[in-house]
Amino acid sequence: MRVLIINSGSSSIKYKFFDMPKEVIISKGSIEHISEKQSTIKDHYSGIQIVLGKIRKVDALGHRVVHGAGEFKKPALINRAVIAKIKQCSSIAPLHNPANLAGILACKRLLPGVEQVAVFDTAFHQTMPDYAYIYGLPFEYYKRLGIRKYGFHGTSHEYVASEAARRLKKRLNKLKIITCHLGNSCSITAVDKGKSIDTSMGFTPLEGLIMGTRSGDIDPALVTYIMKKKKFNIQRIDDILNKRSGLKGISGISNDMRTLVRKERSGNKRAKLAIDMFTYRIKKYIGAYAHVMQGLDALVFTAGIGENQRIIRDRICDGLFSHFKNKPKILVIPTNEELLIARQAYQLIRRNQIC
Ligand code: ADP
Repeated sequence: MRVLIINSGSSSIKYKFFDMPKEVIISKGSIEHISEKQSTIKDHYSGIQIVLGKIRKVDALGHRVVHGAGEFKKPALINRAVIAKIKQCSSIAPLHNPANLAGILACKRLLPGVEQVAVFDTAFHQTMPDYAYIYGLPFEYYKRLGIRKYGFHGTSHEYVASEAARRLKKRLNKLKIITCHLGNSCSITAVDKGKSIDTSMGFTPLEGLIMGTRSGDIDPALVTYIMKKKKFNIQRIDDILNKRSGLKGISGISNDMRTLVRKERSGNKRAKLAIDMFTYRIKKYIGAYAHVMQGLDALVFTAGIGENQRIIRDRICDGLFSHFKNKPKILVIPTNEELLIARQAYQLIRRNQIC
């Protein structure tokens, strides 16, 4: 079965075309600058047209969808009801879901009759217990507005956790694993017996670790304090927390960890502070998650920083397990979200064909 995986973002479409179940990549690529000024690609429909012009014989499609809220615990075969629910979830993921949906709708028009599957970034975290995902806010906000921790990067955490089990030659449901997805966007997940029981990102991807440009955890009272002091409106404070904070905001230099490591080596104190804060926050989360799982078999690093920057991994792990009786295995596993989406789409379609 030839399965095309589409990751449709606000201004780009990335694709990978797999021969399943062999898991062989037939082709891959990306279309950039969609709907940007002076771009010839005016919308996602035109973008998908270009992708489909590069490949032949699509048997099935898998789409990455960022937010499935509490609606989707598993991948879903796309039909009218699923499209309506993805639309509903757009109110809490306005930057992502509309772009994901635009990709789905374009494929429906251009490849009518071809089965499509949606795989959600939030689905893996739907196994969290209520005491981990509900915030200490008035309960009706959860009930009426759906305000709760959802978590993100679920496909990446799920993929590297299962790959860790495979490498350790153990069953996933016998392992306690912490997965660290450290890219420009960062999150960490406690995976107990194959299930996400807690994760650092929250209602939005802003919560948790210090990221390239996002603050991660801060005192929530700071939001109104800064707004008053600096006379910022909602849009401005949102911009500060999401785009001008994190490694970039602390260092005043860059959100790119490679640059910061170089600057720190040449004696830059703010670069050092940014790296110290980044690694310290991760250490705290690892300590907490190992504690709530009552042990840890493996710590997994993935994504740009996690996969490539040993110096950062070493700083996170330095002294971290000195008091552990059994030291966990430390693994570096390249993430492969598209492959997991292809596997899940293939399995769901096969099951559906057999039924
Ligand atoms: P995104 O969340 O945007 O997908 P990435 O996973 O590409 O982010 O990670 C970006 C971060 O990873 C940057 O801080 C960058 O410094 C670091 N990084 C990416 N590739 C490398 C590499 N080959 N060597 C060292 N660091 C890398």
